[in-house]
Amino acid sequence: MPSETFTLHIIPGYIENLFLAEYEHGLLLLDCGAVNDVKRIEDFCRQNLHRSPAEIKLAVVTHMHPDHAGGAVLLRKNFGVPLAAHQELDRWYAGPGGFIQKVIDCVLMQSVARRTRGKLEKALFNSRIQADYVLADGDSLPFFPEWKAVAVPGHTSHDLVLYHAGESLLYAADCFLEVKGRYQTPLPVMFPQWLEASFQKMGALQPSSLLIAHGEARRDQIPADLFQSLQHLLQTPPNKLTRQVKRLSVYTPEYRRLNKLQKQSRSKDGANKFSV
Ligand SMILES: [Zn+2]
Repeated sequence: MPSETFTLHIIPGYIENLFLAEYEHGLLLLDCGAVNDVKRIEDFCRQNLHRSPAEIKLAVVTHMHPDHAGGAVLLRKNFGVPLAAHQELDRWYAGPGGFIQKVIDCVLMQSVARRTRGKLEKALFNSRIQADYVLADGDSLPFFPEWKAVAVPGHTSHDLVLYHAGESLLYAADCFLEVKGRYQTPLPVMFPQWLEASFQKMGALQPSSLLIAHGEARRDQIPADLFQSLQHLLQTPPNKLTRQVKRLSVYTPEYRRLNKLQKQSRSKDGANKFSV
């Protein structure tokens, strides 16, 4: 069966790239951007596509950070857009620790915006996403079955990336960054062992094109050893910035909970067999 054609649009977001796949039967938003990106998404749909944002049939939230999850609830509220995410998503900012983490992450986003845009916009957002569709590893996306969700924890506990096998196209969300042609591990790396396995998993997909949230939006030339070199980079000692960001990222209750589980599992088995 011939695969359904789509046009991929790149929308420059507040501090990240947004990707919108346009099909005749509807639009797929690969991630929700920051809360202030909802207006950008709306304007793009109306002005460039001459379609209503209500035609977004599905928006995925790859993980709970303000530049990826920030717009989610507002997109649903304003335009009835259904949201899809990993089942653990809402735990990341739950409780008092989660609220502190959300505020810190918004401040971190604003510090990037100050450097890159020079002008600040609203950042705080409603993080009770309560996904309409829960995505597990390997699930096809509702309405867009050519796209699959792939669970790749490490940056957080619940990261998803999206893979289109027909196009050999991988939306990598925050699993790595690209700065001036150089690929880097994400900020922060909360679970290095999981991220190592996640890099292996993404490498096994052998994508020929990458969509990148932070950096050059699309890369059609991928270094053959990209995922091995990212695994290698995980072994390098943290620098001042990565250490600082990690230190500011331990307030989510999930970090403590999962670390404790990992430790228990290590002491029980004498080896780390804990996996997600
Ligand atoms: Zn992130």
